[in-house]
Amino acid sequence: MSRRIITAGRVLPMVDGTREIEADILIEDGRIAAIEPGIAAASDGSAEIIDAQGGIVIPGFVDTHRHVWQTQLRTVATDWSLFDYFVQMRLVYSTFYTADDAHLGNHVGALEALDAGITTLVDHCHILNTPDHVEAAARGLQETGIRGIFCYGTFPNEPRVPMPVPDDPGWRAAAARELRAARLADDHGRVRFGYAPAEAEAMDFDDLVAEIKLARELGAAAISCHAAMGAYAAGADIVGRLDERGLMGPDLLFVHGAAFTDAELDLIAASGAGISATPETELQMGMGFPVAHRATDHDVRTGLGIDIVSNYSGDMFAQMRLALQSTRAARNAAFEARGEAPSRITPDAASVLQMATIGGARAINMDAQIGTLEKGKQADIAVISTDAIHMTPAFDAVGALVMNARPSDVSTVLVAGNVVKRDGQLVGVDWPDLRRKVTASATRIMDGFRTVDIAALETAARPVMPNLV
Ligand SMILES: [Zn+2]
Repeated sequence: MSRRIITAGRVLPMVDGTREIEADILIEDGRIAAIEPGIAAASDGSAEIIDAQGGIVIPGFVDTHRHVWQTQLRTVATDWSLFDYFVQMRLVYSTFYTADDAHLGNHVGALEALDAGITTLVDHCHILNTPDHVEAAARGLQETGIRGIFCYGTFPNEPRVPMPVPDDPGWRAAAARELRAARLADDHGRVRFGYAPAEAEAMDFDDLVAEIKLARELGAAAISCHAAMGAYAAGADIVGRLDERGLMGPDLLFVHGAAFTDAELDLIAASGAGISATPETELQMGMGFPVAHRATDHDVRTGLGIDIVSNYSGDMFAQMRLALQSTRAARNAAFEARGEAPSRITPDAASVLQMATIGGARAINMDAQIGTLEKGKQADIAVISTDAIHMTPAFDAVGALVMNARPSDVSTVLVAGNVVKRDGQLVGVDWPDLRRKVTASATRIMDGFRTVDIAALETAARPVMPNLV
Protein backbone atom coordinates (compact mmCIF):
# COMPACT_ATOMS: atom_id res chain seq x y z
CA MET A 1 0.00 0.00 0.00
CA SER A 2 1.39 3.44 -0.91
CA ARG A 3 1.11 5.91 1.95
CA ARG A 4 1.93 9.60 2.06
CA ILE A 5 1.36 12.26 4.69
CA ILE A 6 1.12 15.96 3.91
CA THR A 7 2.04 17.83 7.05
CA ALA A 8 2.45 21.31 8.51
CA GLY A 9 0.41 23.15 5.87
CA ARG A 10 -2.56 25.47 6.28
CA VAL A 11 -5.41 23.38 4.92
CA LEU A 12 -8.45 24.74 3.09
CA PRO A 13 -10.61 21.65 2.57
CA MET A 14 -13.27 23.68 0.69
CA VAL A 15 -15.93 21.68 2.51
CA ASP A 16 -17.33 24.30 4.81
CA GLY A 17 -16.93 27.41 2.68
CA THR A 18 -13.29 28.43 2.85
CA ARG A 19 -12.70 27.76 6.54
CA GLU A 20 -9.03 27.05 7.24
CA ILE A 21 -8.13 24.09 9.47
CA GLU A 22 -4.99 22.76 11.08
CA ALA A 23 -4.56 19.20 9.89
CA ASP A 24 -2.27 16.62 8.35
CA ILE A 25 -3.54 14.61 5.40
CA LEU A 26 -2.99 10.87 5.19
CA ILE A 27 -3.11 9.44 1.68
CA GLU A 28 -3.51 5.71 1.10
CA ASP A 29 -3.75 4.11 -2.31
CA GLY A 30 -4.55 7.36 -4.01
CA ARG A 31 -7.31 8.49 -1.69
CA ILE A 32 -7.53 10.69 1.38
CA ALA A 33 -7.62 8.25 4.29
CA ALA A 34 -7.67 10.82 7.07
CA ILE A 35 -7.52 14.57 7.52
CA GLU A 36 -6.89 15.61 11.10
CA PRO A 37 -4.15 17.03 13.35
CA GLY A 38 -1.28 14.87 14.57
CA ILE A 39 -1.12 12.19 11.84
CA ALA A 40 2.55 12.79 11.06
CA ALA A 41 3.53 12.81 14.75
CA ALA A 42 1.82 9.45 15.29
CA SER A 43 3.17 7.90 12.11
CA ASP A 44 5.25 4.70 12.27
CA GLY A 45 7.61 5.98 9.59
CA SER A 46 6.23 3.83 6.79
CA ALA A 47 4.65 6.76 4.99
CA GLU A 48 6.45 9.28 2.82
CA ILE A 49 6.28 12.69 4.47
CA ILE A 50 5.51 15.71 2.30
CA ASP A 51 6.38 18.76 4.33
CA ALA A 52 4.05 21.60 3.37
CA GLN A 53 5.50 23.93 6.01
CA GLY A 54 4.03 27.39 5.62
CA GLY A 55 2.17 26.44 2.44
CA ILE A 56 -1.54 26.53 1.77
CA VAL A 57 -3.04 23.12 0.96
CA ILE A 58 -6.07 23.04 -1.31
CA PRO A 59 -7.90 20.62 -3.57
CA GLY A 60 -6.33 20.72 -7.05
CA PHE A 61 -8.02 23.18 -9.38
CA VAL A 62 -10.64 21.95 -11.85
CA ASP A 63 -10.36 23.58 -15.27
CA THR A 64 -13.76 22.97 -16.85
CA HIS A 65 -12.88 24.13 -20.36
CA ARG A 66 -9.68 24.07 -22.33
CA HIS A 67 -8.65 23.39 -25.90
CA VAL A 68 -5.47 21.76 -24.73
CA TRP A 69 -4.06 21.24 -28.23
CA GLN A 70 -3.31 24.96 -28.68
CA THR A 71 -0.09 24.79 -26.63
CA GLN A 72 2.08 25.45 -29.71
CA LEU A 73 0.12 28.58 -30.59
CA ARG A 74 0.83 30.61 -27.47
CA THR A 75 0.54 34.38 -28.09
CA VAL A 76 -1.09 34.22 -31.54
CA ALA A 77 -4.53 35.28 -30.23
CA THR A 78 -3.51 38.28 -28.13
CA ASP A 79 -5.72 40.82 -29.92
CA TRP A 80 -8.39 38.57 -31.40
CA SER A 81 -12.17 38.89 -31.51
CA LEU A 82 -14.23 35.71 -31.74
CA PHE A 83 -14.40 36.34 -35.49
CA ASP A 84 -10.59 36.41 -35.71
CA TYR A 85 -10.51 33.23 -33.65
CA PHE A 86 -12.99 31.51 -35.93
CA VAL A 87 -11.13 32.42 -39.11
CA GLN A 88 -7.53 32.02 -38.01
CA MET A 89 -7.69 29.27 -35.39
CA ARG A 90 -10.56 27.12 -36.56
CA LEU A 91 -10.09 27.50 -40.31
CA VAL A 92 -6.30 27.83 -40.59
CA TYR A 93 -4.01 26.92 -37.68
CA SER A 94 -5.94 23.74 -36.90
CA THR A 95 -5.64 22.57 -40.50
CA PHE A 96 -1.85 22.29 -40.24
CA TYR A 97 -1.91 20.14 -37.09
CA THR A 98 -0.66 16.60 -37.67
CA ALA A 99 -1.42 13.79 -35.24
CA ASP A 100 2.03 14.31 -33.71
CA ASP A 101 1.29 18.01 -33.21
CA ALA A 102 -2.01 17.13 -31.50
CA HIS A 103 -0.21 14.69 -29.24
CA LEU A 104 2.48 17.18 -28.33
CA GLY A 105 0.01 20.00 -27.71
CA ASN A 106 -2.12 17.86 -25.42
CA HIS A 107 0.83 16.33 -23.60
CA VAL A 108 2.60 19.61 -22.88
CA GLY A 109 -0.69 21.44 -22.27
CA ALA A 110 -1.64 18.92 -19.59
CA LEU A 111 1.81 19.32 -18.01
CA GLU A 112 1.31 23.08 -17.99
CA ALA A 113 -1.97 22.55 -16.16
CA LEU A 114 -0.38 20.28 -13.54
CA ASP A 115 2.45 22.76 -13.08
CA ALA A 116 -0.18 25.42 -12.28
CA GLY A 117 -2.00 23.26 -9.71
CA ILE A 118 -4.80 22.13 -12.05
CA THR A 119 -5.40 18.45 -11.42
CA THR A 120 -8.58 17.97 -13.47
CA LEU A 121 -9.07 19.22 -16.99
CA VAL A 122 -12.02 19.13 -19.39
CA ASP A 123 -10.41 18.98 -22.81
CA HIS A 124 -12.81 20.21 -25.51
CA CYS A 125 -10.72 18.57 -28.21
CA HIS A 126 -11.65 19.84 -31.66
CA ILE A 127 -8.36 19.06 -33.39
CA LEU A 128 -9.38 15.57 -34.48
CA ASN A 129 -8.41 15.87 -38.14
CA THR A 130 -7.96 12.11 -38.68
CA PRO A 131 -8.50 8.94 -36.63
CA ASP A 132 -4.77 9.08 -35.78
CA HIS A 133 -5.34 12.44 -34.10
CA VAL A 134 -7.96 10.88 -31.82
CA GLU A 135 -5.56 8.34 -30.37
CA ALA A 136 -2.68 10.81 -30.24
CA ALA A 137 -4.57 13.58 -28.44
CA ALA A 138 -6.16 11.28 -25.85
CA ARG A 139 -2.80 9.58 -25.21
CA GLY A 140 -1.18 12.99 -24.77
CA LEU A 141 -3.39 13.67 -21.74
CA GLN A 142 -3.19 10.17 -20.31
CA GLU A 143 0.62 10.04 -20.28
CA THR A 144 0.90 12.99 -17.91
CA GLY A 145 -1.12 11.50 -15.06
CA ILE A 146 -3.67 14.32 -15.09
CA ARG A 147 -7.33 13.63 -14.36
CA GLY A 148 -9.88 14.75 -16.85
CA ILE A 149 -12.58 14.31 -19.41
CA PHE A 150 -11.47 14.07 -23.02
CA CYS A 151 -14.38 15.56 -24.94
CA TYR A 152 -14.29 14.09 -28.43
CA GLY A 153 -14.75 17.04 -30.78
CA THR A 154 -16.38 16.67 -34.17
CA PHE A 155 -15.69 20.08 -35.72
CA PRO A 156 -14.53 19.24 -39.27
CA ASN A 157 -11.18 20.93 -39.80
CA GLU A 158 -10.11 20.41 -43.41
CA PRO A 159 -6.37 19.69 -43.46
CA ARG A 160 -4.20 21.80 -45.78
CA VAL A 161 -1.32 19.33 -45.64
CA PRO A 162 -1.51 15.65 -46.62
CA MET A 163 -3.11 13.53 -43.88
CA PRO A 164 -4.91 10.19 -43.94
CA VAL A 165 -8.49 11.50 -43.74
CA PRO A 166 -10.97 8.66 -44.42
CA ASP A 167 -13.27 9.16 -47.43
CA ASP A 168 -16.35 8.02 -45.53
CA PRO A 169 -17.73 11.04 -43.61
CA GLY A 170 -19.03 8.54 -41.06
CA TRP A 171 -15.48 8.10 -39.77
CA ARG A 172 -15.96 10.65 -37.00
CA ALA A 173 -18.73 8.67 -35.31
CA ALA A 174 -16.84 5.42 -35.93
CA ALA A 175 -13.65 6.80 -34.36
CA ALA A 176 -15.64 8.05 -31.35
CA ARG A 177 -17.05 4.56 -30.86
CA GLU A 178 -13.60 3.06 -31.20
CA LEU A 179 -12.07 5.46 -28.69
CA ARG A 180 -14.85 4.70 -26.24
CA ALA A 181 -14.55 0.95 -26.75
CA ALA A 182 -10.78 0.84 -26.30
CA ARG A 183 -8.60 3.65 -24.92
CA LEU A 184 -11.36 5.38 -22.90
CA ALA A 185 -13.50 2.35 -22.04
CA ASP A 186 -13.05 2.74 -18.28
CA ASP A 187 -15.55 5.00 -16.50
CA HIS A 188 -13.29 4.90 -13.44
CA GLY A 189 -10.15 5.72 -15.43
CA ARG A 190 -8.13 8.84 -14.77
CA VAL A 191 -9.15 10.26 -18.18
CA ARG A 192 -12.75 9.60 -19.12
CA PHE A 193 -14.69 9.79 -22.36
CA GLY A 194 -16.67 12.94 -23.09
CA TYR A 195 -18.09 14.55 -26.19
CA ALA A 196 -17.97 17.98 -27.83
CA PRO A 197 -20.50 18.57 -30.64
CA ALA A 198 -19.15 20.35 -33.72
CA GLU A 199 -20.41 23.82 -32.78
CA ALA A 200 -23.62 23.72 -30.81
CA GLU A 201 -25.17 27.02 -31.89
CA ALA A 202 -23.83 27.22 -35.44
CA MET A 203 -24.63 23.70 -36.62
CA ASP A 204 -27.96 22.44 -37.86
CA PHE A 205 -30.10 21.81 -34.78
CA ASP A 206 -31.08 18.29 -35.82
CA ASP A 207 -27.40 17.46 -36.27
CA LEU A 208 -26.75 18.76 -32.75
CA VAL A 209 -29.54 16.55 -31.44
CA ALA A 210 -28.04 13.55 -33.25
CA GLU A 211 -24.62 14.26 -31.74
CA ILE A 212 -26.04 14.59 -28.23
CA LYS A 213 -27.85 11.29 -28.70
CA LEU A 214 -24.62 9.61 -29.87
CA ALA A 215 -22.75 11.09 -26.90
CA ARG A 216 -25.35 9.67 -24.52
CA GLU A 217 -25.36 6.30 -26.24
CA LEU A 218 -21.60 6.20 -25.67
CA GLY A 219 -21.97 7.24 -22.02
CA ALA A 220 -20.12 10.55 -22.27
CA ALA A 221 -19.14 11.89 -18.84
CA ALA A 222 -19.71 15.43 -20.13
CA ILE A 223 -21.07 16.97 -23.32
CA SER A 224 -19.24 20.26 -23.82
CA CYS A 225 -21.16 22.89 -25.82
CA HIS A 226 -20.05 26.45 -26.59
CA ALA A 227 -23.16 28.56 -26.00
CA ALA A 228 -24.59 32.05 -25.55
CA MET A 229 -21.62 33.93 -26.99
CA GLY A 230 -23.24 37.34 -27.09
CA ALA A 231 -24.38 38.80 -30.40
CA TYR A 232 -22.31 36.23 -32.29
CA ALA A 233 -25.00 33.68 -31.63
CA ALA A 234 -28.07 35.82 -31.02
CA GLY A 235 -31.30 33.88 -31.39
CA ALA A 236 -29.72 30.42 -31.27
CA ASP A 237 -31.76 29.54 -28.16
CA ILE A 238 -30.25 26.08 -27.80
CA VAL A 239 -31.27 25.75 -24.17
CA GLY A 240 -34.92 26.43 -24.96
CA ARG A 241 -34.88 24.14 -27.97
CA LEU A 242 -33.13 21.29 -26.14
CA ASP A 243 -35.60 21.69 -23.29
CA GLU A 244 -38.52 21.49 -25.71
CA ARG A 245 -37.17 18.19 -27.04
CA GLY A 246 -36.61 16.86 -23.52
CA LEU A 247 -32.85 16.74 -24.07
CA MET A 248 -31.56 18.89 -21.22
CA GLY A 249 -29.65 16.95 -18.57
CA PRO A 250 -26.81 16.98 -16.04
CA ASP A 251 -24.28 15.70 -18.58
CA LEU A 252 -24.49 18.97 -20.55
CA LEU A 253 -21.74 21.49 -19.90
CA PHE A 254 -22.46 24.90 -21.42
CA VAL A 255 -19.32 26.93 -22.02
CA HIS A 256 -19.10 30.77 -21.94
CA GLY A 257 -22.84 31.42 -21.52
CA ALA A 258 -22.41 35.17 -21.09
CA ALA A 259 -25.63 35.92 -22.97
CA PHE A 260 -27.85 33.44 -21.14
CA THR A 261 -31.06 35.09 -19.95
CA ASP A 262 -32.29 34.60 -16.40
CA ALA A 263 -34.95 32.24 -17.75
CA GLU A 264 -32.29 30.16 -19.51
CA LEU A 265 -30.21 30.00 -16.33
CA ASP A 266 -33.28 28.75 -14.47
CA LEU A 267 -33.81 26.04 -17.10
CA ILE A 268 -30.15 25.02 -16.83
CA ALA A 269 -30.34 24.90 -13.03
CA ALA A 270 -33.51 22.79 -13.13
CA SER A 271 -31.92 20.32 -15.55
CA GLY A 272 -28.78 19.91 -13.47
CA ALA A 273 -26.54 20.94 -16.37
CA GLY A 274 -23.33 22.81 -15.64
CA ILE A 275 -21.74 26.00 -16.87
CA SER A 276 -18.07 26.70 -17.51
CA ALA A 277 -17.34 30.42 -17.42
CA THR A 278 -14.05 31.38 -19.06
CA PRO A 279 -13.83 35.00 -17.90
CA GLU A 280 -10.86 36.14 -19.94
CA THR A 281 -12.36 34.93 -23.22
CA GLU A 282 -15.73 36.50 -22.54
CA LEU A 283 -14.14 39.80 -21.50
CA GLN A 284 -11.89 39.97 -24.54
CA MET A 285 -13.78 38.46 -27.42
CA GLY A 286 -17.02 40.40 -27.42
CA MET A 287 -19.17 37.63 -25.98
CA GLY A 288 -20.76 39.66 -23.20
CA PHE A 289 -20.10 39.78 -19.48
CA PRO A 290 -18.81 36.65 -17.68
CA VAL A 291 -21.79 34.70 -16.42
CA ALA A 292 -19.97 33.19 -13.43
CA HIS A 293 -21.66 34.87 -10.45
CA ARG A 294 -25.00 35.33 -12.23
CA ALA A 295 -24.98 31.57 -12.81
CA THR A 296 -24.26 30.72 -9.16
CA ASP A 297 -26.95 33.23 -8.11
CA HIS A 298 -29.34 31.05 -10.15
CA ASP A 299 -28.01 27.91 -8.40
CA VAL A 300 -26.35 26.63 -11.56
CA ARG A 301 -23.39 24.33 -10.96
CA THR A 302 -20.60 26.60 -12.18
CA GLY A 303 -16.88 26.22 -12.74
CA LEU A 304 -14.12 28.25 -14.35
CA GLY A 305 -12.12 27.46 -17.46
CA ILE A 306 -8.95 28.71 -19.06
CA ASP A 307 -10.08 28.00 -22.64
CA ILE A 308 -7.06 28.82 -24.80
CA VAL A 309 -3.39 29.26 -23.99
CA SER A 310 -3.02 30.58 -27.55
CA ASN A 311 -4.17 33.74 -25.83
CA TYR A 312 -4.02 33.67 -22.03
CA SER A 313 -1.75 32.08 -19.50
CA GLY A 314 -2.82 28.69 -18.19
CA ASP A 315 -3.21 30.31 -14.81
CA MET A 316 -6.30 29.58 -12.70
CA PHE A 317 -5.30 32.26 -10.19
CA ALA A 318 -5.65 34.83 -12.97
CA GLN A 319 -9.05 33.46 -14.05
CA MET A 320 -10.32 33.60 -10.46
CA ARG A 321 -9.21 37.20 -10.16
CA LEU A 322 -10.76 38.21 -13.49
CA ALA A 323 -14.08 36.58 -12.61
CA LEU A 324 -14.09 38.30 -9.24
CA GLN A 325 -12.97 41.77 -10.22
CA SER A 326 -15.06 41.99 -13.39
CA THR A 327 -18.20 41.16 -11.38
CA ARG A 328 -17.21 43.71 -8.76
CA ALA A 329 -16.59 46.30 -11.47
CA ALA A 330 -20.03 45.74 -12.96
CA ARG A 331 -21.78 45.93 -9.59
CA ASN A 332 -19.83 49.03 -8.62
CA ALA A 333 -20.65 50.63 -11.97
CA ALA A 334 -24.35 50.11 -11.25
CA PHE A 335 -23.96 52.03 -7.98
CA GLU A 336 -22.06 54.78 -9.74
CA ALA A 337 -24.71 55.08 -12.44
CA ARG A 338 -27.24 55.83 -9.68
CA GLY A 339 -24.93 58.34 -8.03
CA GLU A 340 -24.39 55.98 -5.10
CA ALA A 341 -21.20 54.90 -3.34
CA PRO A 342 -21.17 51.30 -2.02
CA SER A 343 -20.26 50.89 1.64
CA ARG A 344 -19.44 47.21 0.98
CA ILE A 345 -18.34 45.35 -2.14
CA THR A 346 -19.56 42.00 -3.42
CA PRO A 347 -18.90 39.22 -4.28
CA ASP A 348 -16.17 37.98 -1.94
CA ALA A 349 -12.96 36.27 -3.02
CA ALA A 350 -14.08 32.97 -1.54
CA SER A 351 -16.74 32.72 -4.26
CA VAL A 352 -14.18 32.29 -7.04
CA LEU A 353 -11.98 29.90 -5.08
CA GLN A 354 -15.07 27.74 -4.74
CA MET A 355 -15.77 27.92 -8.49
CA ALA A 356 -12.18 26.90 -9.27
CA THR A 357 -12.40 23.81 -7.03
CA ILE A 358 -15.66 22.26 -5.82
CA GLY A 359 -17.77 24.37 -8.19
CA GLY A 360 -15.92 22.99 -11.20
CA ALA A 361 -16.18 19.46 -9.81
CA ARG A 362 -19.95 19.87 -9.46
CA ALA A 363 -20.27 21.30 -12.97
CA ILE A 364 -18.87 18.06 -14.38
CA ASN A 365 -20.58 15.72 -11.90
CA MET A 366 -17.31 14.71 -10.24
CA ASP A 367 -17.94 16.21 -6.82
CA ALA A 368 -18.21 12.76 -5.23
CA GLN A 369 -14.57 12.11 -6.21
CA ILE A 370 -12.79 15.49 -6.26
CA GLY A 371 -13.14 19.21 -5.51
CA THR A 372 -12.72 19.09 -1.72
CA LEU A 373 -10.26 17.55 0.72
CA GLU A 374 -12.33 14.95 2.57
CA LYS A 375 -11.83 11.41 3.74
CA GLY A 376 -12.57 8.99 0.90
CA LYS A 377 -12.02 11.45 -1.91
CA GLN A 378 -9.27 11.21 -4.49
CA ALA A 379 -5.99 12.70 -3.28
CA ASP A 380 -5.88 15.49 -5.87
CA ILE A 381 -4.05 18.17 -3.94
CA ALA A 382 -2.02 21.33 -4.54
CA VAL A 383 0.32 22.98 -2.06
CA ILE A 384 0.84 26.68 -2.65
CA SER A 385 4.00 28.11 -1.14
CA THR A 386 3.82 31.43 0.68
CA ASP A 387 7.59 31.94 0.71
CA ALA A 388 7.87 34.37 -2.20
CA ILE A 389 8.16 38.13 -1.81
CA HIS A 390 4.69 38.62 -3.33
CA MET A 391 3.14 36.11 -0.88
CA THR A 392 4.56 37.50 2.37
CA PRO A 393 2.77 37.83 4.70
CA ALA A 394 -0.23 35.65 3.92
CA PHE A 395 -2.54 36.39 6.86
CA ASP A 396 -5.60 35.45 4.90
CA ALA A 397 -5.24 32.24 2.87
CA VAL A 398 -8.08 33.10 0.48
CA GLY A 399 -6.66 36.54 -0.22
CA ALA A 400 -3.22 35.03 -0.77
CA LEU A 401 -4.57 32.53 -3.29
CA VAL A 402 -6.99 34.72 -5.21
CA MET A 403 -5.16 38.04 -5.18
CA ASN A 404 -1.46 37.19 -5.01
CA ALA A 405 -0.55 33.66 -5.99
CA ARG A 406 0.96 32.62 -9.33
CA PRO A 407 1.58 29.19 -10.85
CA SER A 408 5.24 29.53 -9.80
CA ASP A 409 4.07 29.39 -6.17
CA VAL A 410 2.56 25.93 -6.71
CA SER A 411 5.19 23.83 -5.00
CA THR A 412 3.67 20.35 -4.83
CA VAL A 413 0.87 18.69 -6.79
CA LEU A 414 -0.65 15.24 -6.38
CA VAL A 415 -3.17 13.48 -8.59
CA ALA A 416 -4.72 10.33 -7.15
CA GLY A 417 -1.96 10.39 -4.55
CA ASN A 418 0.82 10.42 -7.15
CA VAL A 419 3.29 13.28 -6.83
CA VAL A 420 3.43 15.00 -10.23
CA LYS A 421 5.15 18.19 -9.02
CA ARG A 422 7.59 18.31 -6.14
CA ASP A 423 9.55 21.25 -4.71
CA GLY A 424 8.44 23.44 -7.58
CA GLN A 425 9.47 20.99 -10.34
CA LEU A 426 7.37 18.68 -12.48
CA VAL A 427 8.40 15.09 -11.78
CA GLY A 428 10.00 13.12 -14.62
CA VAL A 429 9.68 15.86 -17.22
CA ASP A 430 12.59 16.74 -19.51
CA TRP A 431 11.54 20.29 -20.27
CA PRO A 432 14.53 21.26 -22.48
CA ASP A 433 13.70 18.30 -24.74
CA LEU A 434 9.97 19.09 -24.79
CA ARG A 435 10.71 22.74 -25.40
CA ARG A 436 12.71 21.88 -28.51
CA LYS A 437 9.82 19.76 -29.76
CA VAL A 438 7.22 22.46 -29.06
CA THR A 439 9.33 25.08 -30.84
CA ALA A 440 9.88 22.87 -33.90
CA SER A 441 6.19 21.97 -34.13
CA ALA A 442 5.11 25.59 -33.66
CA THR A 443 7.55 26.82 -36.31
CA ARG A 444 6.23 24.35 -38.88
CA ILE A 445 2.59 25.22 -38.13
CA MET A 446 3.39 28.94 -38.35
CA ASP A 447 5.17 28.46 -41.68
CA GLY A 448 2.00 26.81 -43.00
CA PHE A 449 -0.22 29.56 -41.60
CA ARG A 450 1.77 32.21 -43.48
CA THR A 451 0.91 30.60 -46.82
CA VAL A 452 -2.84 31.23 -46.38
CA ASP A 453 -4.71 34.31 -47.64
CA ILE A 454 -6.46 35.33 -44.41
CA ALA A 455 -8.25 38.34 -45.95
CA ALA A 456 -9.95 36.13 -48.54
CA LEU A 457 -11.02 33.68 -45.84
CA GLU A 458 -12.43 36.53 -43.75
CA THR A 459 -14.57 37.71 -46.65
CA ALA A 460 -15.89 34.20 -47.16
CA ALA A 461 -16.50 33.66 -43.43
CA ARG A 462 -18.35 36.88 -42.62
CA PRO A 463 -21.80 35.58 -43.60
CA VAL A 464 -21.36 32.61 -41.24
CA MET A 465 -21.35 34.85 -38.17
CA PRO A 466 -24.38 37.08 -37.60
CA ASN A 467 -24.23 40.71 -36.51
CA LEU A 468 -20.58 41.34 -37.39
CA VAL A 469 -19.59 44.99 -37.74
ZN1 LIG B 1 -13.87 26.82 -26.19
